[in-house]
Amino acid sequence: MQTYILKEKNVTMVVMRIVIIGGGFGGVYTAGHLNRLLKNHQEIEIILINKTNYFLFTPLLHEVATGSLSPASIAEPLREIFRKTKVKFYQGEATKIDEESQTVYIDNCSLTYDYLVLATGTETHLRHIDHKEIFELKNLKDAINLRNQIIDVIENANHEKNLHTKDSLTNFVIVGAGATGVELSAELSDFIYGTIIKKYYPDNCTANDIKIYLLHSDNTILSYLNYKIQKYAAKILKKKNIVVRTNTKVESIYNKVITLDNGETIEAHTTIWTAGVIPNHLYTHEEKIKRIAVNDFLQTEKYPNIFVVGDIAKQESPAPMLAQVATQEAKTVANNILALIKNKKLKPFKFKSQGTLLSLGSWRATGEIFGINIHGRFTWWLWRTVYLFKFLSWRKRFRIMLEWTINLFFPRDITKA
Ligand SMILES: Cc1cc2nc3c(=O)[nH]c(=O)nc-3n(C[C@H](O)[C@H](O)[C@H](O)COP(=O)(O)OP(=O)(O)OC[C@H]3O[C@@H](n4cnc5c(N)ncnc54)[C@H](O)[C@@H]3O)c2cc1C
Repeated sequence: MQTYILKEKNVTMVVMRIVIIGGGFGGVYTAGHLNRLLKNHQEIEIILINKTNYFLFTPLLHEVATGSLSPASIAEPLREIFRKTKVKFYQGEATKIDEESQTVYIDNCSLTYDYLVLATGTETHLRHIDHKEIFELKNLKDAINLRNQIIDVIENANHEKNLHTKDSLTNFVIVGAGATGVELSAELSDFIYGTIIKKYYPDNCTANDIKIYLLHSDNTILSYLNYKIQKYAAKILKKKNIVVRTNTKVESIYNKVITLDNGETIEAHTTIWTAGVIPNHLYTHEEKIKRIAVNDFLQTEKYPNIFVVGDIAKQESPAPMLAQVATQEAKTVANNILALIKNKKLKPFKFKSQGTLLSLGSWRATGEIFGINIHGRFTWWLWRTVYLFKFLSWRKRFRIMLEWTINLFFPRDITKA
């Protein structure tokens, strides 16, 4: 075990250090559990490193992109979350790990660790597509950029005389009909038809001008969910005027022209890529594009003092890339670090699904809880309530409740950020 000498208030003490890289669902929940387990161990230090100074609630990103929520509502400052805890926050980007010397390099400095938790999540996997051709929905900046783009293209289409260019401005293409693609397309439809067109552009840009495509390479949308959820979601998307194309692959996108695998082309100024992710990790003993292989206790095989949680962890039978997996793994990892410190037996991780809920725009949602399929208005209310209580602070819960209430009486916000 490595030790360090810390001088605090002229008292010298020996400490052990646990470093967590990544302040998303996996990292923040690991830090929270460790804080509870180790609060009386002054000799143990917990450091959380994250690129941004906030924790981002990704399940509501599509609501920011479509004018329902403001960006600050879904971001919780990490310093606020850990204000009265023993977790120390370090804003910065970890650039390298040296597993042998147990060192993490961050921007211009380095930190040694006794235990390391990797929780750096994923990034969009674009394969051969140029970044400049598409919009993503992975972080707050992406959501703001997308909202600005939606407002801009309709503003431009409103005074565009060339019909061909106008078509391209009013075509929206979402690639990937997993949960993110489906939720986003439903919200996008509500934003465009229900707010932008209905309230603000009655003359030169009408509902007939708009086309929203949802493209998916599999033969069914939401392929990993059950048939009833797929069927209900498909019905709602149809009602919302979304053209769903399954068994359709994007071959290339160049100069705003999307070429499909059957040779057909769609011209669109706005293509949103939600089809696939790759891990975003620094572990040197795994290929960059692969999730990090971990044992039953979520440790890497080579270094038992390195744990992995969230989207980048891969057990023998891999759990889905979901927030509920990351938060459950976080608890196991915190308990197992304590067990290692106390020389006790480690516990294996087993994912217990808490069910699935999927929003489909205003007043519509679908899902499965305790093996029962549910959908409709009640499910939509349940979805909102569940997600509201997943926020870490009452401040954000109240803020979101207020914004959602305002949205019941007023159109969504079309201010560009
Ligand atoms: C639009 C969208 C909607 C989603 N909806 C749902 C949903 O409804 N339900 C659900 O269960 N899941 C949902 N997910 C998936 C869920 O967000 C992920 O499964 C979950 O966030 C994984 O947690 P994580 O800790 O592995 O990664 P993340 O939460 O992505 O956190 C990774 C963190 O690491 C930081 N980081 C990365 N590299 C470094 C570095 N080198 N140095 C410092 N910091 C770094 C990042 O800034 C980020 O804060 C959604 C995802 C998206 C993108």
